[in-house]
Amino acid sequence: MQIDFGDVLRERHRWALEHKETGGLMMGCYSAMVPEELMWSCGVLPVQFLMSPGDYGESQAYLPPYVCDCSKSIFEEYVNGTYSYLDGLMVSHVCETIRGLAGILSVRRPDRFVHVFTAPAGNDAGARRYLKAELIGLADKLQSLGAVPMSEERLEEAISVYNENRALISELYRVRGGNPGTVEPEQVLSAVLSAGIMPKPQHNQMLHGFLKTIHKGPEKTGTRIILSGLLFENEVAGRGNLFSIFRESNALVVWDDLATGMRYRFERIEDLEGGDPLDRLVESLMGPQPAPLRSPAEGKAGQLLQAARDYGGEGVIFLIPKYCDPILFNIPTLTQILKEHGLPALCLEVSGSLPEGQMRTRVEAFLEMISGSPFNV
Ligand code: SF4
Repeated sequence: MQIDFGDVLRERHRWALEHKETGGLMMGCYSAMVPEELMWSCGVLPVQFLMSPGDYGESQAYLPPYVCDCSKSIFEEYVNGTYSYLDGLMVSHVCETIRGLAGILSVRRPDRFVHVFTAPAGNDAGARRYLKAELIGLADKLQSLGAVPMSEERLEEAISVYNENRALISELYRVRGGNPGTVEPEQVLSAVLSAGIMPKPQHNQMLHGFLKTIHKGPEKTGTRIILSGLLFENEVAGRGNLFSIFRESNALVVWDDLATGMRYRFERIEDLEGGDPLDRLVESLMGPQPAPLRSPAEGKAGQLLQAARDYGGEGVIFLIPKYCDPILFNIPTLTQILKEHGLPALCLEVSGSLPEGQMRTRVEAFLEMISGSPFNV
């Protein structure tokens, strides 16, 4: 059977509704830096918001015009009933905008649970104790909403399922990076986005099947590019034009560091026989996190340079959502470091719907400039 993760995105609410029928709870989430394993061990399905373009008319009365389209999209769909099945909202503190949005939504929908999750910036014993207490408190709050009580056994099981998912996604990126012609970039990103909205056991099954369908074909030639930043779901699920422009320009995406892609927290949680699984979850959440607020730009630049070395990347295209402070703060440092290492970069400001004409011109000019200059420093 042909596996198409785009179908999961097109039927984005199906999995949550099926989970609800089993008596489970659903928590709307923004950013993968929330304790997903803990939620799943309590029978709660984390449902990542997919960003949809629109005129965001309802949000205009509540949000200033200079907030990002991501926040407007979440606001709009949270209050217009698109996500009426959710039992609450949990966002990680990746920026001040999302923290403010959580506050506004808690006023707009006081009947719903809202939680802002923040792992401490410190990395000492006190920070670990604090975070462990936070997680225990969170499990208690979920239980008061009707979730299953947390237990070591269930958390251990959840960690194992999530570790398998991270390993499978890493494998998909390795296979695609080795020969980008074997799988379309939209399929890779759809696979990662789907991981955020469907139960991981079923997603693991789909990933196993999908990896088997990727056949080693002849090496495809083209300009090898890396993407970083953030993309809306409509670009990935087939209605946008960014990837068509890449194909028509003979560009091959070899790796991405998109917030909707590999920026997913892909480090597995350490397997330790007999150790407290909650301690391991704490350790994982306090590790180097793939978001600007918690990781210095130098670390991100090192990751992009390494991917370029591993997969022959010739340039990086940064996709920057309008008004996204955390990404914008990082860009000067990132582009400077890449430049010093001889890796060219293009910055494209993107919003919900990318304006095609201007984008095509800029992408084509960039590709023409870098084509045939493999990065090898
Ligand atoms: S990280 Fe950027 S895009 Fe996401 S909510 Fe914050 S400002 Fe908006």
